[in-house]
Amino acid sequence: MTQYALIIDGKKITTQDTFDVLNPATEEVVAQCSAATPDHVDQAVAAAQRAFKSWSQVDMATRQQKINEIADKIEANFNELAALITQEQGKPLQAFAGLGAGFEVGGCVAWCRYTATQDLKVEVLQDDDQGRVELHRKPLGVVGSITPWNWPLMIAIWHVIPAIMTGNTVVIKPSSMTPLSTVRFVELANEVLPAGVLNIVTGEGGVGRVITGHPGIRKIVFTGSTPTGKGIMKGAADTLKKLTLELGGNDAGIVLPDVDVAEIAPKIFATSFINSGQTCAALKRLYVHEDIHDQLCEALTQIAQGVKLGNGMDDGIDFGPVQNRAQLDIVRELADVARANGARFLTGGEEMSGPGYFYPLTLVADVSDGCRLVDEEQFGPILPIIKYSDIDEVIERSNNNPNGLGGSVWSKDIEKAKAIAARMECGSVWINGHALVKPHVPFGGVKDSGLGVEFGQQGLEEYTNIQAVHIEKA
Ligand code: NDP
Repeated sequence: MTQYALIIDGKKITTQDTFDVLNPATEEVVAQCSAATPDHVDQAVAAAQRAFKSWSQVDMATRQQKINEIADKIEANFNELAALITQEQGKPLQAFAGLGAGFEVGGCVAWCRYTATQDLKVEVLQDDDQGRVELHRKPLGVVGSITPWNWPLMIAIWHVIPAIMTGNTVVIKPSSMTPLSTVRFVELANEVLPAGVLNIVTGEGGVGRVITGHPGIRKIVFTGSTPTGKGIMKGAADTLKKLTLELGGNDAGIVLPDVDVAEIAPKIFATSFINSGQTCAALKRLYVHEDIHDQLCEALTQIAQGVKLGNGMDDGIDFGPVQNRAQLDIVRELADVARANGARFLTGGEEMSGPGYFYPLTLVADVSDGCRLVDEEQFGPILPIIKYSDIDEVIERSNNNPNGLGGSVWSKDIEKAKAIAARMECGSVWINGHALVKPHVPFGGVKDSGLGVEFGQQGLEEYTNIQAVHIEKA
């Protein structure tokens, strides 16, 4: 059985203690991973602090080149990384609408390439007889990255690449359920980067907490659940770390009566069930105007009935399993609650026999706000469809939720859709689309969905401190 090592100061370190990584499609062990102790975290932080001294002084052009070399490495190992993602996470290699492990690895390359074109410019705030004031952006030091199990490699890239581009060094801790593709990525990146710039510590429980409270780390970037994000905020308070927190979402999509149902149904389906619904910004509550409600339900049901679930390593599989048993239990429970509330299951909703954490793609109608399936983030392959008649009321219902990550409006009337979008309480609103994250566009949540943004210039700048340089003339 392969044992994946920690990587600290450019060296692989295997530990006596290990933990198993399972394939959620088979429940078989894929590999073992080294289990870091707090001492390993100390070593990783110390290595990152040493590396910071020189890496922070390297010029931007060299760092951009290194990021492009990392992209080359990912491209050269594309198939291996995609297979690792499928085995540990469950998403098929290709998947429905091409949104599988290959898409994830391709996204990693694209994100690296785009980030390598970014820069930190000196801003001149004043330049007159009295003096000149320049705003400089400086790296923070060691960044701690804590990633989840849904898009393991993509999210690792989202955290690591802007951090090192801006001159920081990194200690990353992937989810214990999906660490393998991240370990392999860090191995590849270490063929390009100086020792200590990017370190990885893996472990089951506890390692994230040690990172969060570590006095040698200046910032935490975290993607995961809202409760864990709040815990990280508390844990980071004593050492006053900067934070970027990308937390849960319960994105509403509002469909107006003027849409072409046949045209939007496949798009809504793909964006609701992307990665079997295990995507922070997936469409998770679908509000449909009563005039087209039945028609859209019918179109979505037809698509759901034509898809194939299975082991994502096999050909022709559209959707994989839920990544872990705990998440499968959440999905089952929310389905049961909806059923008990009188909801109507258009497809799915029946448990599947194992092995693997499979749950059928499930569409639920005759359900509304106040039912847990609508109010809570399901993070799995089950979509509540809520009928509405009044637009003002539906906007209020969509906002009446602690989350505020994304939202969408579906209509042929773009001006009307924009006016509705402006009233939605969320960090991103898409019109006639959903979950379309882009490397040049800042992405982040409001309310319980997080703090700060990733991507774009604003996302890059979150990895820096401002230094105002005053040059007095008078
Ligand atoms: P968590 O938020 O608990 O885990 C995400 C990461 O945080 C993992 O690396 C985990 O490590 C680490 N972690 C856990 N506890 C702590 C802590 N106290 N301090 C620091 N790091 C910690 O997510 P879950 O896996 O429990 O998923 C729960 C829910 O989160 C899902 O049902 C879903 O709603 C939401 N979620 C949202 C995601 C998003 O993209 N926004 C992604 C994944 C889940 P370890 O693996 O060792 O526990």
